[in-house]
Amino acid sequence: MAKTHKITLIPGDGIGPEVSGAVVKIVEAAGAATGIGFEWHRYAAGAEAFETTREYIPKALYDSIEENRVALKGPVTTPIGGGFASINVTLRKKFELFANFRPVKSLPGLKTRYPDIDLIIVRENMEDLYAGLEHEVVPGVVQALKIITEKGSTRISQFAFDYARKHNRKKVHAIHKANIMKLSDGLFLRCARKVAEEFPEVAYAEHIVDNTCMQLVMNPYQYDILLTENLYGDILSDLCSAFVGGLGLVPGANLGKECAIFEAVHGSAPDIAGKDMANPTALLQSAVLMLHHIDESATANRIQTALEQVYREGKTLTKDVGGTSGTKAFADAVLQAMEMPQTV
Ligand code: NAD
Repeated sequence: MAKTHKITLIPGDGIGPEVSGAVVKIVEAAGAATGIGFEWHRYAAGAEAFETTREYIPKALYDSIEENRVALKGPVTTPIGGGFASINVTLRKKFELFANFRPVKSLPGLKTRYPDIDLIIVRENMEDLYAGLEHEVVPGVVQALKIITEKGSTRISQFAFDYARKHNRKKVHAIHKANIMKLSDGLFLRCARKVAEEFPEVAYAEHIVDNTCMQLVMNPYQYDILLTENLYGDILSDLCSAFVGGLGLVPGANLGKECAIFEAVHGSAPDIAGKDMANPTALLQSAVLMLHHIDESATANRIQTALEQVYREGKTLTKDVGGTSGTKAFADAVLQAMEMPQTV
């Protein structure tokens, strides 16, 4: 009997249901072709979950992730300037998903201003201003606390350097603003430096975050792995996504010791939701990361090869990357490419 993987699926809202629908179809087909099956345990989160369960993250969803240890997640809308806390941030904290891994890699055939990009953002995923500790000191004055710890900074640095060693990456840049936040970003840097000493084969450098924005736009090729705190990593991810064609493309993984949640960098894109316009590539490449994570690399490679084939041909692309096709047609093109004999 085919091996079956149990995966928690959070379709999300906005464009979430469209992109996750396309991705599940493609993953199922790739699994069928490579002799594995999937059992998807579906859960709503955020406002949608609240309507039926009175909880933004239902207990059943927590239990499912705890049991399956792997989740694929679509974007979930977070109210701005009030309302419930971010579902993403809450899940990352709950399951101690301390590392956010975001590879930014050009797809073949897709022309952008920056060809052959291959860089990785390794972002601390639980601390910093994302701790969500804010309060009004007196009317008109709000204080937000930035939390940086030795433990958090050391383990994310260790993650970045371990990854570099294992995958033969050449350079890690720690990104900071320690000229201003001397204590917090200073601690982050000290931890990164200490870990760097254990990896003499990986070059180590430090760039101030504002300069990094300029350096990235001038010459992104000088970077290999960007090691960042939570907020800087979030901002730089969107900037870097533009090198390879935008937010529709860049995948991500939230990794901890016990569990992992795979999700695209992009959000719920309300401006294009429900219009069959969303590009499912970012979530599809997140699913590819997930398949590697569960040791199903043959299935992962089958999807990646077909996806690259569709981009190389360039005939069935979504609007965000210059095409005229919809989400469904794009997904069908990937499914079709998977049926062709593959040359890897
Ligand atoms: P967004 O990423 O949703 O959209 C930014 C721009 O990119 C929009 O123009 C959108 O149309 C485009 N875009 C995004 N994904 C795309 C795709 N797959 N295909 C084509 N175009 C795509 O960012 P935003 O508008 O700042 O945020 C919207 C909501 O999403 C907010 O509530 C935010 O909190 C939430 N959000 C959720 C997550 C998550 O669940 N992981 C991440 C980021 C933002």
